[in-house]
Amino acid sequence: MTTRSWAEPWKIKVVEPIRMTDRRERERAIRDAGYNTFLLRSEDVYIDLLTDSGTSAMSDRQWAGMMLGDEAYAGSRNFYHLERAVRDYYGYEHLIPTHQGRGAEHILSRILIKPGDHVAGNMYFTTTRAHQELAGATFHDVIVAEAHDPRSEHPFKGDVDLAKLSALVDEVGAEHVPYLSIAATVNMAGGQPISLANLKAVYEFAHSRGIKVILDATRAVENAWFIQQREQGQRDRTVAEILFDLCRHSDGATMSGKKDSLVNIGGWLGLRDEALAAKARNLVVVFEGLHTYGGLAGRDMEAMAIGIEESVQEEHIRSRIGQVLYLGTKLMEAGVPVVRPIGGHAVFLDAAAILPHVPREEFPAQALAAALYVDSGVRAMERGTVSSGRDPQTGANRVPKLELVRLTIPRRVYTQAHMDVTAESVIDVFEKRERVAGLRFTYEPEYLRFFQARFEPVGAAGIFKDAGAARAVETAKA
Ligand SMILES: *Cc1c(COP(=O)(O)O)cnc(C)c1O
Repeated sequence: MTTRSWAEPWKIKVVEPIRMTDRRERERAIRDAGYNTFLLRSEDVYIDLLTDSGTSAMSDRQWAGMMLGDEAYAGSRNFYHLERAVRDYYGYEHLIPTHQGRGAEHILSRILIKPGDHVAGNMYFTTTRAHQELAGATFHDVIVAEAHDPRSEHPFKGDVDLAKLSALVDEVGAEHVPYLSIAATVNMAGGQPISLANLKAVYEFAHSRGIKVILDATRAVENAWFIQQREQGQRDRTVAEILFDLCRHSDGATMSGKKDSLVNIGGWLGLRDEALAAKARNLVVVFEGLHTYGGLAGRDMEAMAIGIEESVQEEHIRSRIGQVLYLGTKLMEAGVPVVRPIGGHAVFLDAAAILPHVPREEFPAQALAAALYVDSGVRAMERGTVSSGRDPQTGANRVPKLELVRLTIPRRVYTQAHMDVTAESVIDVFEKRERVAGLRFTYEPEYLRFFQARFEPVGAAGIFKDAGAARAVETAKA
C-alpha cells in the first residue's frame, strides 16, 4: 500500500443528535417556509449545509477560553488577546472589534464613502455591497471573465481584471474611488481564490492612483491555502506566512470571524492608518459598542483569538478544504454540473445547467435548493437571481451569469459519511431534474431579499411537479 486515506484531524468529544424526517414532513416544512431554506426550522433539517457562517465546531481550547472571558465593559484582557492575534497573523496594527463582518462593513463604508462615489471589486458580496450602496456608492465588478464561467478551470478565478479596473478608474476619476473592495476567497464566484501576484499588482495600481485597498479577509486563510497549492513559488511557505503576505497588500480588512476563525459570532475591522482607525473607533461606539468589545462578550473575543491561531494550522486547513473537495469530486464523477474548480468552503451546483427548463425569472437555484431539501433533508442555499436583488436605480431584477446552489460545509462539524449521504441525494435529484418546478414570489422584502422572501411553485402543487401523483401511486401500492 502506497496511498493512505486522510481523516479528520480531530476526534469527537461532544455530540449533538440530528433527526431524519420523512418526506411528507419535509414537503410540509418547505411549504410553510415559503420554499426558502432560510425560513426552515433547523430542527427540520438533517444535514445543514446552508452556510459555513457561525456554524463551526469550536475546539476544547476555545471552550476553555470561553471560561476566561473578562466581561469588563472597558479594556477586557480578551480584547488585547484578539488584538495580538490579528497583529500576529493578519498584520493590521489597529483592531476594531464588531459583532460580525457586516458591522465592520458598515463602519468602513461610513468612514470612506461619500455619496456619488464608486467602489470596484472582484465580484460583489451581498452585505458588503448593501453597505456600500447604503453609504451612496455604486459598486462595479472588475473580476476576470473566467469567474463568470462555471466550467473554466482557471486556478485563480478571484483575480481582478486590471484592464477593466484601470478603465473604470479613468472613466469615473480616481478621486471618486475611495477604495477597492477585494475579497479573498470570492464567495459569490464559488469560493475561488485571488493570487498573490494579482493582489500585489492591484495594490500597486491602486496606490499609484491614490486609492486604498480593503480586503474582505473572511476566508483569507482558505485563500492562502490555495496560493500555497497552486501559485508558483509558494509551495514551501506556510499558510500563516502566505496569509500575512496577502494582508500586506491592503490598507485594511473587514472580517467575519464566523468563517475562517472557527467561532459562532464575531468580526473585526483592521486598519493600518491611525487617523482612519480613530474615526472607526469613534463610530463603533455608536453602532456596536465600546471600541474594546464592539458588540462582543469578552469570551467571544477570546474564542476568536484562539480560533485565529487554530485556523492557520496546516493540518486543519488541509482537511477542511479536503472535505469540500471530497464532496465535489463525488458529484463531478456522477456528472452533476458544478462550479470548477471546487472552491474552499462549498460545492456550488450549476442550477441553470441542471434545470434548463426553469426560466431564470422562476429562480432555478431557489427551486433546486427546495427540491434537495424535500428529497433528503439536506439544506442548501440559493446564490443566483434571488440573492442578486434588484438594481437600486431601475428596480429591475439583476440576473447574474451564475445561478448556483451552494452546499456549504461547516468547519469540523460533519464527517465523510455525511458528505456521502449528501452526494447521494444530490445525484438522485439530478436524475429526476425534469420534474422540478420553478417558483414565483409571494413576498419580497426590500433589503437582502434572499433571507426572508417567500415563494410558491409555478403551476404545480409542490416543488416536484408530479409529487401528488407519485404519492398516490405509493399509497395505492401500500
Ligand atoms: C459572511 C460574509 C460577510 C459578512 O459577514 P457576517 O459575519 O455574516 O456579517 C462578508 N463577506 C463575506 C465574503 C462573507 O462570506
